[in-house]
Amino acid sequence: MKTRRDFLQHLTTAALALPIASVYGLENPLPPVEVPYQGPVLRVALLGLGSYATRVAEAMKACTKAKLVGAISGTPSKLKDWQRKYNIPEKNCYNYENFDAIKNNPDIDAVYIITPNALHKPQCLRVAQAGKHVITEKPMAINVTEAQQMVDACKQANVKLLVGYRMHFEAKTLEVIRMRKAGDFGKVLFFQGLSGFIIGDPTQWRLNPALSGGGAMMDIGIYSVNGARYMIGEEPVWVTAQETKTDPVKFKAGIDETIQFQFGFPSGAVASCLSTYSLNNLDKFFLDGTKGFAELQPSTGYGPIEGRTHKGVLKYPHVTHQTTQMDEMADILLNNRQPEVPVDGEEGLKDMKLIDAIYAAVKSGQRVELKG
Ligand code: NAD
Repeated sequence: MKTRRDFLQHLTTAALALPIASVYGLENPLPPVEVPYQGPVLRVALLGLGSYATRVAEAMKACTKAKLVGAISGTPSKLKDWQRKYNIPEKNCYNYENFDAIKNNPDIDAVYIITPNALHKPQCLRVAQAGKHVITEKPMAINVTEAQQMVDACKQANVKLLVGYRMHFEAKTLEVIRMRKAGDFGKVLFFQGLSGFIIGDPTQWRLNPALSGGGAMMDIGIYSVNGARYMIGEEPVWVTAQETKTDPVKFKAGIDETIQFQFGFPSGAVASCLSTYSLNNLDKFFLDGTKGFAELQPSTGYGPIEGRTHKGVLKYPHVTHQTTQMDEMADILLNNRQPEVPVDGEEGLKDMKLIDAIYAAVKSGQRVELKG
């Protein structure tokens, strides 16, 4: 018996180009046929199997271009767990001592580093030396010097380096960027970014400067740093910043609790942002121009992102961010696709330069001038 699939396979290209309703008649149109993806698949190992890695692993179940095939952890029981849960072969599992041997594993294309911030650089250098593409979580490093070393090491090893900027693939965010480029907001002069949450457990690595490299700024404030750049579409030329601390016991030296910072852009636009570990309900971007505005709230959480502009509510279906991110990153790594907003090491480096400048401005109380 001929199936619907057989029938469709024998349709000519011309017939396939017709709207489906014209082929079958308007009364009883068949639903569109899903053609399974048949292109190359990026085979990924996750390094560090903590809470965000688990979120990524779950999201990757729905990926078509990327596949979770390997795991690296210091905890043998976690590796056993992940082998069962995600169908990962034993031969693709490594610990922190032996993962350089990934070099000899032809079944892994890329390693996604999802460990505490201070470990990103040394682990990136090892992955690059093993000849695998690197995806690293944000912040890519704990300062600009380390970030530059990562970019250089990947270049030298001839592998690509990407940073886990999931918002760069989010539909409502991209629509605001499209509208700004199309001139819908007129001359953009102001961005506000509010990024914060109340942090719990005082013993966690996020509150240990040796592992985190800083406080809220490194963790959540970076969303406003990065967002200011992609929403305004320029690179800051000056930075000012002020720090406040209400709990010096929980937020010890080297861990910023709250920082307000401002950026000035070449066009004259300014950004005013807040980064904090002491307030919830702070996840908002606001962009204003001479002809209109855009507001995203929540703007960078796991979603759904909500947004509106002077033209109305932004309507795009929510897709799990990490699913889209990993499929898009597969396209970037395997097919050299150029994303609308970059996610490469150079992009991460720009944020690290700004974060270093914010800390310098806090320390000196002076405006820090940047080259742009
Ligand atoms: P986590 O504490 O839940 O997991 C960290 C993992 O690293 C754990 O499995 C831990 O065992 C392992 N690890 C290895 N060496 C360690 C050491 N010396 N000390 C402590 N842990 C060590 O943290 P997380 O929330 O998964 O964050 C990991 C990274 O992911 C961070 O860089 C963070 O900024 C980033 N992150 C990104 C997003 C995002 O939306 N893009 C969200 C959350 C976290």
